[in-house]
Amino acid sequence: MKYFCWNIDDGLEQDKKIIEEFRRDGIAATFNLNAGWFGRRQLIGRVGNMGIKDVLEEEFRPGLHLLKYSPSYRIPEDEVAQVYEGFEIASHGLCHENFKQISDEEAVTSITENSRRLKELFGNEIVGFAYPYGVCGPNTEQQLRDAGIRYARTVGKSKDFRRPENPLQLPMTAWHIDKDVMDKIDRFIEADGEEEDLFFLLFAHGYEFDFNTPESNWEKFYRICDRVAGRDDIVCSSTREGLGI
Ligand SMILES: [Zn+2]
Repeated sequence: MKYFCWNIDDGLEQDKKIIEEFRRDGIAATFNLNAGWFGRRQLIGRVGNMGIKDVLEEEFRPGLHLLKYSPSYRIPEDEVAQVYEGFEIASHGLCHENFKQISDEEAVTSITENSRRLKELFGNEIVGFAYPYGVCGPNTEQQLRDAGIRYARTVGKSKDFRRPENPLQLPMTAWHIDKDVMDKIDRFIEADGEEEDLFFLLFAHGYEFDFNTPESNWEKFYRICDRVAGRDDIVCSSTREGLGI
């Protein structure tokens, strides 16, 4: 079988629009959330298709900032259970910590406390993780394992559609913004999933679809969903299911 897995970070308001389409198309997916930052309201400044600077809404002064900004508002805690119902919830650290810049103690707290709060809110064991900023400290992998995390997504890219050897260093297959993403998806559609299970992890942040650039826009999001949904040979699944965990 072939598993196509949307893997979406940060718990942004745009996820509601994404989920509306997923529900319409019968697409399952994984959302990587930070319980300590629910409801946080920021704007994200970008260069091209790359979000590079967060500014809290109350500190944002139009005209003072040179970059182009899009809303990066996180869904409040009292809404998340309803918004994400039925989707896999994975951890993205309690407050999106950079795991190379914090102590071991802080890292363990970020991992365990986020899993505890997500489990309380969503009722499921948390087995997935996405490294905030794609950064993994020297002990992060072991800390994740100790906390019951079974897979952790990096921002590296895989070379093929095979499941990874080490799921705690799970690369993405593509970022939706990649210029060659539609070609890669077409190659996946053509690939033979009979002999060996194949896996496609597509990474996104909800705010990126608002950029409205040729590489990152809602029309392309809908096009990707249409391409992979409703096929007999592809399961649009959570990352956990796609990895056979
Ligand atoms: Zn993030």
